Amino acid sequence: MSQKRKHEIACPLCGQEQLVELWDSINVDSDPELREALLSNRINRVECAGCRKSFRVDKPLIYRDRDQDVFIHFDPLVGGRTLPDAEKAFREAMDELNRLLPPDVPSPEAHLVVEWSELVERIFLLEEGLDARLVEHVKYMMFQQNPDKIPADKKNLLFDAQDSTDDQLCFVVQDVATRKLEAVLNFSRADYEALVNVFDSDDQLALLDEQFPGPYLSGRRRFLQDLAER
Ligand SMILES: [Zn+2]
Repeated sequence: MSQKRKHEIACPLCGQEQLVELWDSINVDSDPELREALLSNRINRVECAGCRKSFRVDKPLIYRDRDQDVFIHFDPLVGGRTLPDAEKAFREAMDELNRLLPPDVPSPEAHLVVEWSELVERIFLLEEGLDARLVEHVKYMMFQQNPDKIPADKKNLLFDAQDSTDDQLCFVVQDVATRKLEAVLNFSRADYEALVNVFDSDDQLALLDEQFPGPYLSGRRRFLQDLAER
């Protein structure tokens, strides 16, 4: 079941305080229309009662689609919230969920994202049947191979399902400061499938565990960390 409730917010543009109804969780199995609403940026978007401007309220949101096996926690880093805070809250929520589940029910594979663009990207990626960690690994390699074209401190990479084909996985370059989408890079699907096979063995999988211990997965963040430690 999807859930929404009233939240007291202040308009980021004119400051007027108001009570608005916002989604806390979206369940696509019972409310399939909310998937489209989210992907077209109509979820948790409000029109200010004062200045009439429209904006999205960045607040935590759970997205669930059992049919497609998609379960994502969106926990935006706003109001001083840090990534460690979000990871801690996520781990606690998962522990709680596992405690409540009957022992014979496997725990769902849950994902943590902290930016709206990551939420949209992750929904598409999981619906495509791709492995989120491997895709972040691919991004890591793309940053490594294109330091001039996509400097990781200034540019982000987002998987673009709509422009991907049977032959190519498509990635859009996003400027971190302006959030503008600037260019497109392709990664061969055959190379991705080869990686799936490489990481099929336990010792290789351990390397991926080491690279992305989780729960938050980001090839860009990992690449920047490794650069800083060099
Ligand atoms: Zn306003």
